[in-house]
Amino acid sequence: MLGPALSLIHTGQTPTRSALTRALDVTRATAGAVTAELEALGLITVDSRPAGGGRGRPSHRLAIDPEGPVVIAGQIHADGLSVALAGLGGLLDPPVHRPLPAATDPVRMLRAVAEAGAELARHSSRRCLGAALALPNPVTEPDGAALAALHFAWPSGTPVADLYDVEVGRADNGPRALDPLPTAIANDANLAALAEYRHGAGRGARHLLLVTSGHRGVGGALVIDGRLHTGSAGLALEVGHLTVDPQGRPCQCGNRGCLNAETDPDALFAAAGLTPDPDRPLLDQARELCLAASTDERARTAVGHVVDRLGLGLAGVANILNPDRVVLSGLHRDLLEAAPDRLRAVVAERCLWGRSGRVPIVGAELGHSALTGAAELAWRPYLADPQSVAVG
Ligand SMILES: [Zn+2]
Repeated sequence: MLGPALSLIHTGQTPTRSALTRALDVTRATAGAVTAELEALGLITVDSRPAGGGRGRPSHRLAIDPEGPVVIAGQIHADGLSVALAGLGGLLDPPVHRPLPAATDPVRMLRAVAEAGAELARHSSRRCLGAALALPNPVTEPDGAALAALHFAWPSGTPVADLYDVEVGRADNGPRALDPLPTAIANDANLAALAEYRHGAGRGARHLLLVTSGHRGVGGALVIDGRLHTGSAGLALEVGHLTVDPQGRPCQCGNRGCLNAETDPDALFAAAGLTPDPDRPLLDQARELCLAASTDERARTAVGHVVDRLGLGLAGVANILNPDRVVLSGLHRDLLEAAPDRLRAVVAERCLWGRSGRVPIVGAELGHSALTGAAELAWRPYLADPQSVAVG
């Protein structure tokens, strides 16, 4: 009962104790005992003052304890490293961004992100209970090996989960961190989908498809009834190599016209005939180009070109998966905002179900969905068993 109760409060579904009583289908006394135990564990607060300072019956408002424990969320992407501390409730502290280390071999990069996270944990007054990392390449389950890490040319099969665990263990995470600190690692698009499902634009969806282009390439993920569909070995929904233009741009995989190569920030610049500034994050510049589409003809044409290919890809995936919501993240959200009617029209035209029942295509809501998802991964054991926060 504790785990389901904490999950409901964590996802904001039960802001009051009476809502929790109904959601769990238990008596008021049981709900009272459960919330008292979560409060005693330092995870939630129960505010029993009448709302608005009036004299009405106490509503027992439930919230995540702002002084409660945190986890370290990390992300490695083509433009650098990002780390943040995160409490329950999808509450992410402002992330810290660092450039990629000069040497991009797996150990150096995992060490750099582990040390950046440890620095945050050392300077926090809150207990730290775990660390998790989002990577831009497929990660196998359950052994945690990186496959096709094309951005950094890591050897295929690099045991990233084990290496990250070692580096987090070596880092000085401060006196308030569990020792050893539990670690976990997963693909960034999968984590972004989980975060949007629980805290963002995917709430309430049953079959949520997320497609994203962050800094390089394209990722996809599917959440079915609250659970990530990761396939038999963690490798499902690798939508980046779907062909959307057989004569198109070369992809890192050796083929041409993959969704990766046709709808990422590089593709947008190529379509505009522009060269990005090598000293600024490519994603930021690509977003500016999307915004310019409202006034600039060249930007508008480039956005249209990329949106048409994104639409082809989305329709192909939607025909296979039949989602009830599509969430676009990263640059794809900006493309949707720049040309919403065109994108929805391309999908509807190509999608078998699009003409009868249109699948809603919406933009991601979270500012840092991969980091928020990494936090979800680190919180997973505690959401399953809240009493385990008392260990250590
Ligand atoms: Zn490819």
